[in-house]
Amino acid sequence: MSETVDVVIIGGGFAGLSAAIEAKLKGKNVVVLEKMARIGGNSVISDGGIAAANTDLQEKYKIEDSIEMMKEDILIAGKYRNDTKLVDVLVNHAKDAFIWTRDFLGVEYSDRVDIFGGHSVPRCYTPKNVTGRDLIKALEKKCMELEVDIRTKILVEDFIVVDDIFEGVKIVENYQYPKETDGELKELYAKDGIVFATGGYGRNQTLIKRFKKEFIDLDSTNKPSADNHLLEKLLDYPIKMVDLDQVQLLPSTSIDEKGFGDGSLFGDYVVFPLGILLDPKTMRRFTSELIDRGRLSEEMMNIGNYVIGLADQDAVDMAGWDISKAIKKGVVKKYHSLEEVAVAFEGSLENLKETLKRYNTFIEEGVDRDFDKSLTNHRKIKHPPYYVMRMRPKIHHTMGGLKISEKGQVMSINHTPVKKLYAAGETAGGIHGAARLGSMAVTDCVVFGRIVGQSF
Ligand SMILES: Cc1cc2nc3c(=O)[nH]c(=O)nc-3n(C[C@H](O)[C@H](O)[C@H](O)COP(=O)(O)OP(=O)(O)OC[C@H]3O[C@@H](n4cnc5c(N)ncnc54)[C@H](O)[C@@H]3O)c2cc1C
Repeated sequence: MSETVDVVIIGGGFAGLSAAIEAKLKGKNVVVLEKMARIGGNSVISDGGIAAANTDLQEKYKIEDSIEMMKEDILIAGKYRNDTKLVDVLVNHAKDAFIWTRDFLGVEYSDRVDIFGGHSVPRCYTPKNVTGRDLIKALEKKCMELEVDIRTKILVEDFIVVDDIFEGVKIVENYQYPKETDGELKELYAKDGIVFATGGYGRNQTLIKRFKKEFIDLDSTNKPSADNHLLEKLLDYPIKMVDLDQVQLLPSTSIDEKGFGDGSLFGDYVVFPLGILLDPKTMRRFTSELIDRGRLSEEMMNIGNYVIGLADQDAVDMAGWDISKAIKKGVVKKYHSLEEVAVAFEGSLENLKETLKRYNTFIEEGVDRDFDKSLTNHRKIKHPPYYVMRMRPKIHHTMGGLKISEKGQVMSINHTPVKKLYAAGETAGGIHGAARLGSMAVTDCVVFGRIVGQSF
């Protein structure tokens, strides 16, 4: 039995749903296929932070930024592996993407602008509830208003390719993740095109083993379902793949809980910008806490099993986020003095005191003479209680994937667009190069999802 629609979108995350809305607004008959019982993918468990330069919020807080600075930050983090044409598209459409989520879809953002490692100025906007669920809900609501046909529990198993044209997909209905399937495959044809928006492969052991085997034993922040098995299928076609060995670790996570957990908020928003990282063996700093995630993870992995993230009460107050969940869970621990910290980690109290004294002098002078960390808005670390987390990076983002054009067309190994196949979101490669900056994935998904949707 077969069916034909205009546009088939595989994946109900930020990228797929953004593409669906734009294609529907072009008057197309759109179907979104999602293998899980609910849409959302990794998008729904993300913090939902989105980055853009030259916004009204930056203007309000007198933050000077530019498209050129944003591009340079992305390229430095990406170690210049990035496809610069795609980066241009990303930075030029970022502000529009942020405004679209806020003013068109109605996502409410906190009245603040954050900075994450590798961004040279604050340019990250976090939804009020600090979760990607806010944007997923808003995208879903708009899809419902527009009567986009979203079908869950549909696994796309394969493609229908005729004379090198991607004409449709083979699907399993009523799919129960994570069961193996052996049922009859239904065929769904797409008149205008198929959008591959299946997310990353952070939980795909076959791909990690093949392309980044040194990470095979690491935990991941991703949902178990973030395996993108369908990408493996595309390896059999003459399709250009890029950077499949570029897998990002997230440095802000705790060794004392599984997955993304509750501690990452403390790591990202408190320790890195307002606290310090210490080697527990020496009680000394070993890096700037605000370098990009790729380099920071490398520095942390070089130290050993775990490192210590430390901040004081002032830092927690100043960051303004609620870290009570992580404290209740025992992931972030509270100590009333530096003596208590040294005893808990069996480290040298003398070194710990010396490290803080030195760091506080840097704050006074406004220059980190050891690691050149940007100390804007920093306060001395000296007001107990001290908050401490044992930290170890986890697999977070896969920068590699399908090579795409500036219009989101999937490219063949002959450098020509594959007919009727498009991609957007984490499954597309080459945009972030060696490392994705914080909040840049949401921007990427919305920018390229919209561009692909508008192209029909
Ligand atoms: C814990 C966490 C926090 C993060 N926080 C941030 C942040 O604050 N800011 C930021 O920029 N980035 C963040 N990221 C990264 C960002 O969330 C992801 O890169 C982004 O959401 C990916 O969106 P996507 O649409 O490409 O894929 P996803 O959201 O993963 O959606 C893909 C969907 O495709 C479905 N699918 C896959 N294969 C098939 C198939 N064969 N058939 C049918 N359906 C299929 C999946 O089930 C899934 O629902 C975070 C990531 C994680 C894991």
